[in-house]
Amino acid sequence: MLIRILSLTLFGLATAACSAQETEPGPSMVAAANPHAVQAGLEALRDGGSAIDAAIAIQTTLSLVEPQSSGIGGGAFMVYYDVATGETTVYDGRERAPAATTPQHWLDENGEPLPFLTAWTSGRAVGVPGVIAMLAQAHEDHGNRDWAENFSFAENLAEDGFEISPRLYSLILRAAQIRDVETTPAMRNYFFDETGTVLPAGHVLTNPDYAGSLRLIADDWRNFYEGPLAQDIVDAVAVGPVPGEMTLEDLAGYRASVRAPLCREYRGWNICSAPPPSSGGVTVNQIMGMLEPFDMAATGPDTAEGWRRFIEASRLAYADRDRFIADPEYSAVPVEALLANDYIATRSALIERDTAILNVPAGEPDVPGTSHFVVVDAEGNVVSMTSSVEFLFGSNRMAGGFFLNNQLTDFTFNPLNADGSPVANAPAAGKRPRSSMSPVIVFDTDGDFVLATGSPGGTSIIAYVSKTLVGMLDWGLTPQTAIELPNVVARGNVVRVEDSFPADIAGALRAMGFTLDANRTENSGLHIIQRLEDGTLIGGADPRREGMVGEP
Ligand code: GLU
Repeated sequence: MLIRILSLTLFGLATAACSAQETEPGPSMVAAANPHAVQAGLEALRDGGSAIDAAIAIQTTLSLVEPQSSGIGGGAFMVYYDVATGETTVYDGRERAPAATTPQHWLDENGEPLPFLTAWTSGRAVGVPGVIAMLAQAHEDHGNRDWAENFSFAENLAEDGFEISPRLYSLILRAAQIRDVETTPAMRNYFFDETGTVLPAGHVLTNPDYAGSLRLIADDWRNFYEGPLAQDIVDAVAVGPVPGEMTLEDLAGYRASVRAPLCREYRGWNICSAPPPSSGGVTVNQIMGMLEPFDMAATGPDTAEGWRRFIEASRLAYADRDRFIADPEYSAVPVEALLANDYIATRSALIERDTAILNVPAGEPDVPGTSHFVVVDAEGNVVSMTSSVEFLFGSNRMAGGFFLNNQLTDFTFNPLNADGSPVANAPAAGKRPRSSMSPVIVFDTDGDFVLATGSPGGTSIIAYVSKTLVGMLDWGLTPQTAIELPNVVARGNVVRVEDSFPADIAGALRAMGFTLDANRTENSGLHIIQRLEDGTLIGGADPRREGMVGEP
């Protein structure tokens, strides 16, 4: 990199030569959580599609084959880098609360918050889905193929059928076995045979309803938000238990937001991600910023000191996240203050010690309802997109052959703090619940693309993504090795580490005063594409899921 910086500074003309070269077709790549979805993306790229076209094909396929995690009934954040203009844009397709939503949304008649499991499959959990409006906007700005062409792969697969994967099978079982929650009729009709048994892995599942919905949306994206499909969504939300009050007007009024990414420099790189209502961009950049004064390269993944710093930076950043971040349209989120150099330096100084610090607030449970994918097209445009239905199979309610999200459970259930002041992330009409989704694109000092990554994992997303950035940027790991580093989630007073975390380092951290919980299995789904200086792309796919890397 140093050589390139020098050549650009010393020989201004090199810039022009360099960008002219970048318009030549180059290598392209897809990394996503399911082989069918990767195929869908590659087919789009081979057919002259852009990274955005590939993203539409990937998302509509994931909605079918990985419905536990993401889909067109959910929401997403996408970071997009356009090589021709050098601009990076965030497309925000986060769900919005229906107009009937009040701060008491999650309180029962006695003013007590509903238990999460009751809320999970309720109609009240469903937010107005944002994925299709977001993809339509991105396609209008940066699509190459016709909108409709991007739907044919998923439509054919829904008609012809796909084999239920081992992971999908195990998660249908898990959703059906969660205590106190009755399996919804939609889940039973779709995933169970007449005897009430879950269809096995390998069973070929067709979904003609979904194929029909895709045909409607391919014709005109507005057909998701108006007409018979919108009516189906409203009807699915309106049935008990705990019905919701989404209206046709809520759907018709949905618009995706387009805005600048949240970027911060880290050792000469520029790390760009999603701004609020996601907490991802702020919190990942806080963690990295707190680590910057330390020589992380000298304390690698085989040292307790390297992990200690990572753990403390995570705990400090998560504490801020929990307190300050919500939908900025509803309350002031102090993004600049949280990322100010002086403030980060003060927080970072707290890490300069050799024993565990601080009592920080406790965390929330981890959840498996999200997917992340990355695409680089032949022109060099990049998509980094995290997409979610929130918990397992969203609300477990279906309309038009796809699952509806339960994203409104990402609001804080109790609208008041202990001292009676309002909670920033309380429910409200039209509001977007706080997210942790952290789709990231990293650039070098020349503004050239270096890597794209992201992960599912609820609030742990931030820890998984930060671990991967430290692994690649500081510890020099390849995408695959960085993904395979043990996950370490330090939020509140307990540090959750994956089984593969080295016992000697765990022992050393315990001796410093940390409480480690090694029994919690973590479930990230990190996907990465890295661009080397010679233009070669290398990818990585998380073995904790069923994904892969593919090239056209
Ligand atoms: N609903 C979560 C969020 O938007 C993501 C859930 C998950 O990753 O499973 O932050």
